[in-house]
Amino acid sequence: MPELAEVELARRIWEPGKGQEIIAVESHPKTRVYRDTPARDIQGHLVGKTMVDSRTHGKRLIFGFADSLSGSSPRTSVTYLEVHLGMSGRLFLADPEHHPDKHDHFVLRTKSISLVYSDYRQFGRVYLHPPDTKPWDALPVEVLHTRFTLAYLRRLTARRKGTSLKALLLDQSIFPGIGNWMADEISWRLYRYPGTALRELDLAAIRQVSRQVCRGALRHIADKNSPRDGTRGFSPGSYVEQVPPSCWLFQHRWKAGGSCPRCHSTLQRGTIATRTTAWCPYCQPKT
Ligand SMILES: [Zn+2]
Repeated sequence: MPELAEVELARRIWEPGKGQEIIAVESHPKTRVYRDTPARDIQGHLVGKTMVDSRTHGKRLIFGFADSLSGSSPRTSVTYLEVHLGMSGRLFLADPEHHPDKHDHFVLRTKSISLVYSDYRQFGRVYLHPPDTKPWDALPVEVLHTRFTLAYLRRLTARRKGTSLKALLLDQSIFPGIGNWMADEISWRLYRYPGTALRELDLAAIRQVSRQVCRGALRHIADKNSPRDGTRGFSPGSYVEQVPPSCWLFQHRWKAGGSCPRCHSTLQRGTIATRTTAWCPYCQPKT
């Protein structure tokens, strides 16, 4: 599933839609991606509107649409569309005459481009928030936000001392945007076995390293790839040209016989917090 940086790259793929009026919305209304908001409602709300905002929050993509400004209305209400990529969802740009294939479940057309959401497994979803609500107001603080302080993290985890490091990092109400590979990367950089309980860990170090990995992931995945490269979709290691360098665990964790980029020990794999997890038995010994 795409994590924070892949989601940010997806946002940038649709960025050219900003400032453009939506002249048509096409959908496959019976697909599961509309399980929260019926396709016809999305269509009714977006046609004739202009995309005025795009942002991410953790693994969420949020696009804002407002009435096209006529000059006489100084303030206009904004409706936010949220997109979750799920396991196989991807966003891409196409020409205005793009013919949606059977997996292109949602297409926003402007005069000059088509913004396409495609999802062959349909674990993703597309839905609308009520007009004039800011969906991010109710969401947990992002890892790179200035409000993600140690005091904040202590408050959130006060009753979670028995939780494993891996489960904690995957908890979207605490670390929005961090998923399986980032959680493994953080544990490896902390030199801690991912199954270690929080009571044995230094929360300040977890905060610091999780922020480092978020920053690095954004730099290597979102900044170094041309957004158009995202058209090939998301699968580990192949969705973009540029991925984190070979000094990251990322490059080795899925390879058969993959070894630790620090000490070259063969990586171990197992299920921790219900997810396939890779760790170095030498750098991250079980305590
Ligand atoms: Zn190692």
